[in-house]
Amino acid sequence: MIEAILEILYPSTCIFCGRICKEGICERCRAENPYIREPRCKRCGKPISSEEEEFCHDCIKQKFCYEQGRSLWLHKNSVKQSVYAFKYKNHRIYGRVYAREMAIEFGELIRLWGIDIIVPVPLHKKKVRKRGFNQAEIIARELGKRIGIPVETSAVIREKYTSPQKELGQSGRRRNLRGAFRARGRSVKGKNILIIDDIYTTGSTIDCISEELRRNGCEKTYFLTISIGQGF
Ligand SMILES: [Zn+2]
Ligand SMILES: [Zn+2]
Repeated sequence: MIEAILEILYPSTCIFCGRICKEGICERCRAENPYIREPRCKRCGKPISSEEEEFCHDCIKQKFCYEQGRSLWLHKNSVKQSVYAFKYKNHRIYGRVYAREMAIEFGELIRLWGIDIIVPVPLHKKKVRKRGFNQAEIIARELGKRIGIPVETSAVIREKYTSPQKELGQSGRRRNLRGAFRARGRSVKGKNILIIDDIYTTGSTIDCISEELRRNGCEKTYFLTISIGQGF
């Protein structure tokens, strides 16, 4: 029944090309935008060049607090445009398609990770007011419904209003995010947590949240995002 309602509420156009289509992604765009597959980095999930390598350059260079993560697509071309429209042109309904794709592609992995709760990357309340919604929360809620795992939107809050990360490098991003997040101990203690965000760029946002969650007694953190940058 829930499935039937969800089906009806998919966008009537393709999230990539805008052509009329029932499923949210047309056949042509599905072929043109394949999921990231092996070989990929065992930590961040980014595609890597050879089967022999284990980790990408970024993950060799630095140690992350999170265990592992995956993204559906590389952040380029029509994926990039789609995520932009989702965030800035109020195409909230795209979140439903992204979450469905995550459930299909990563459902098994999520079970393997032993996830207890799903936590969307929080936005500062000023930003929520401006945009009207938190894009990560939309995906988290849709995904939670599909796979039957509770979503905790107040497990981590964003205390500090940070300037846009776009222009900053790895260490600049880290500095910018220092003290930005605060976890609430009781709801995360002993839990395996799946963090949801829209894009993984350098990993600093996911990792700052992971650090804060671990500090508050959470067991392990993992992440899923719609897309991931090709690396620095
Ligand atoms: Zn299309
Ligand atoms: Zn990596």
